Amino acid sequence: MSTTEHEFDLESERLSVKKPEVRFDKQGDMSDDERVEQAMTHFSKDFGRTAATYLESCIHCGVCAEVCQYYVQTGDPKYTPIWKLEPFKQAYKRESSPFSWLFKTFNLKKKVTAEQLEEWQHLLYDSCTVCGRCSLICPMGIDIASLVSQARHGMFKAGLIPHELHAVAERAEVDGSPLGVTPQVFEDRLEWMEDEHEVDINIDEDEADVLVVMSSIEIQKYPDAMAATAKILNATGESWTFRTDGFEATNFGLLSGNLDWQRDISMRIIDAAVKVGAKTLVLPECGHAYMALRWMGGNMYGKPLPFKVLHITEYIADALNSGRLKVEKVDKSVTFHDPCQVSRRGGATRAPRDILDHLGVDFREMPKGGDYNWCCGGGGGVVTIHRADELRYKVFELKMEQVEETEAEELLSSCSNCRQNFDDCQRHFEWQYKMGSLLELVADNLVEEARD
Ligand code: SF4
Ligand code: SF4
Repeated sequence: MSTTEHEFDLESERLSVKKPEVRFDKQGDMSDDERVEQAMTHFSKDFGRTAATYLESCIHCGVCAEVCQYYVQTGDPKYTPIWKLEPFKQAYKRESSPFSWLFKTFNLKKKVTAEQLEEWQHLLYDSCTVCGRCSLICPMGIDIASLVSQARHGMFKAGLIPHELHAVAERAEVDGSPLGVTPQVFEDRLEWMEDEHEVDINIDEDEADVLVVMSSIEIQKYPDAMAATAKILNATGESWTFRTDGFEATNFGLLSGNLDWQRDISMRIIDAAVKVGAKTLVLPECGHAYMALRWMGGNMYGKPLPFKVLHITEYIADALNSGRLKVEKVDKSVTFHDPCQVSRRGGATRAPRDILDHLGVDFREMPKGGDYNWCCGGGGGVVTIHRADELRYKVFELKMEQVEETEAEELLSSCSNCRQNFDDCQRHFEWQYKMGSLLELVADNLVEEARD
């Protein structure tokens, strides 16, 4: 079977989902009052000390607006980061702040209404990729992106999230994969890649030092990533395995605002890693699971994880730096798109640059690259929301300018969700750059003797 036949077709997936005619979506049959009640209850639950400090600290300087891709590209004040949190902030001031009695008595902060929540669905989901650029720049250290995630939690409980995001998150919870990849499908595709690339792929080993997981985007759309991962792991000589009982690295529970779903999704992987006695869990070339497992995994597990969690770029950089892996030199100019959740929000900005150093490429950093990189515009679940397409393409223009300024021959990244968004935008704009995978470039240039 060819790669093309196996490719997950984003367009046909989109056509299979009803295009919404209304500006916001609703789940369940709650009345407006019940939705407001649910949102308020869950907004309030999230007003911990950190959120309260953040909301009290804003000095309304407006600096965050200047770095948000949505405001920069539209000039529309409703897209300023802090405005996206207005109902959340309004609820805090009225219900939980030290002066809530004053705000309530004199109605200085009005009660949040159902109409307001419906309006904010667009601001909290369609026009925020949770990229964290605003959090990085805020002089008061306010993590606006994390507050957006908390506000999404209340929206989920109120049954007010975009229906596509609800559908993929629900599928991840119920079927174990946002794209409906069953353990059998995963195994079939691994076996197909094993034949296609003539590489040994370890599946369902009882014990292994390294457990490797994939995202459904890779399994369905970029399956070569599975073969590339196997080639690299084999070359390091480590004992490793994929597991059909814990393979799907996704964070749609988090993105949709349902932490219970996220816990279930993450625990499948954590349980599989514990079962095989893994010392290291390697996350795929996808930003999706990085926050959920690297930084929130211990919270989900209820105690420190008994293994290290590394993104595949961190794993490869470590193997190259320690000499366990060797690569040939590659003679081309390359630029690199940093995935927000892995680099800026995740902290793994150095690893891809170490890998590019070992590959000896002519690396051309994008202007304002690295931690300050522009988002691809498809993160935070935005790429799944059809009605957000026009805005998504608009913000992608910033990305195209950033890439083109480097005049590099090749564009690489280490996130299959970014890659999926780049592919769609490349088709939309008929753009000359096609995003390649850093992982696959390494696998194609391995020095075989490194195994010994
Ligand atoms: S940059 Fe920070 S302090 Fe300034 S408006 Fe934005 S959130 Fe408030
Ligand atoms: S997280 Fe990114 S997209 Fe969301 S408000 Fe901040 S800068 Fe804008």
